Amino acid sequence: MSYQSIQQLLKTAPTGTEVTVKGWVRTKRESKNAVFIALNDGSTINTIQAVAEAGQLPEETLKLITTGACLAVTGQLVESQGAGQAVEVKIANVTIYGTADPDKYPLQPKRHSLEFLREIAHLRPRTNTFSAILRIRHALAFAVHKYFNDNGFYYLNTPIITASDAEGAGEMFRVTTLDATKPPLTEDGKVDYSQDFFGRETNLTVSGQLEGELGAMALGKIYTFGPTFRAENSNTTRHLAEFWMIEPEMAFYELEDNMNLAEDFVKTVIRYALQHCADDLTFLDSRLKDEEKTKKKEEQSELGLLEKLQFVISNEFVRLTYTEAIDILVNSKPAKKGQFQYEVSWGVDLQSEHERYLVEKHFKKPVILTNYPREIKAFYMKQDPDGKTVRAMDVLFPGIGEIIGGSQREDDLDKLTARMQEVGIEPEALWWYLDTRRFGSAPHAGFGLGFERLVLFVTGMGNIRDVIPFPRAPKTAEF
Ligand code: ATP
Ligand code: MN
Repeated sequence: MSYQSIQQLLKTAPTGTEVTVKGWVRTKRESKNAVFIALNDGSTINTIQAVAEAGQLPEETLKLITTGACLAVTGQLVESQGAGQAVEVKIANVTIYGTADPDKYPLQPKRHSLEFLREIAHLRPRTNTFSAILRIRHALAFAVHKYFNDNGFYYLNTPIITASDAEGAGEMFRVTTLDATKPPLTEDGKVDYSQDFFGRETNLTVSGQLEGELGAMALGKIYTFGPTFRAENSNTTRHLAEFWMIEPEMAFYELEDNMNLAEDFVKTVIRYALQHCADDLTFLDSRLKDEEKTKKKEEQSELGLLEKLQFVISNEFVRLTYTEAIDILVNSKPAKKGQFQYEVSWGVDLQSEHERYLVEKHFKKPVILTNYPREIKAFYMKQDPDGKTVRAMDVLFPGIGEIIGGSQREDDLDKLTARMQEVGIEPEALWWYLDTRRFGSAPHAGFGLGFERLVLFVTGMGNIRDVIPFPRAPKTAEF
């Protein structure tokens, strides 16, 4: 008798063998002749049914077997008499590890709202929905590492604490050990960071890209996959204050190579999830179908979750320039009817409503937009010969908007320094970054994929706070 997870057991254990199952009670049902206990141990969405004859278990034991209690059950694995499962455990012995008072345990066998579950984020992994999401999240993370490893990339760990506030990606969280109530001051009354832990002002990173570029200029192809922090006070369903970002950076790649990589990469990891998370995705697919039924007909999505994932991996992404996209948007029905909240014209940063119009209404496919106006993009993007645009690329997904942002990088020292000065970044502050352009500069490119936006897409969830175990967002850091 050895202990196996329910996932292993359902896959491999032959009937007739004695097994031990350890897990948490999902439901207990009593009939005239028997007691049925559904156990789940988190290894799979499937529960295993344990059955005792009526009267077999002492009344005191039976009373303690309630939803949420943790048990070990030993017995013979037999073909199930009832419908709904192939096998079940004929209970010989039960050990109760931990009880869960039914008057206090918040997770009862009924549908809880996602909002309520966010308030009990410490327990929500015990639900079908969240355990499915977390297993899919794991599979996607594994697929990311596998993809890059299979394709000759090296995993580079870029710093989480940085001193460069020049990336312009968003508001930063300060890292300091100075006394918050009476920090040392300089003569002109400012906080004296020279007395701080690092002897300078430091922050949590908003992106590993700049250091990623240093890696690419030495190892050729690298990727980062680590936590990223943005103190943007945007309470949206697509932004977190702490999220995980995947940032490949490749020497000798130009914009087109970058797009090809981004498309192949996203498709490959989605395909991996489809192949390895079939049970969980099927569960989420039907969960979404139930949710869709509560919506108005015109708001229901045309494709189910599995259909949508299949659709994305089997169709080419549409590629067009920002300028072409603006043309489409300006001539679109919502623009003419004044239905966009933000007006569009050449030069504006696209809002989520514009991105979603292109992806969901116009092309009905993922879209890669390129060659954005230089004014709305970061200083390090390679300038186009027209002097107006840069070699940027954003990948836009249905229901999500921007999932990837990337570019070919400016590899010309003079152009890069000039651009930094134009946007008010002191070139000396990034002397080490500029050294890659001083010594052995080369064309190179890369992108950033927000991991949670990928998980959001693959699970079909609607709020990014539901695809990370313990979300960090404005006023949210309880667990
Ligand atoms: P957005 O316009 O959606 O705020 P961004 O332009 O700030 O995105 P980048 O700086 O290009 O995004 O970051 C690269 C990727 O990181 C984005 O494409 C997105 O997938 C992800 N990302 C950015 N900000 C967040 C956030 N606050 N929470 C979760 N993911 C994010
Ligand atoms: Mn942002």
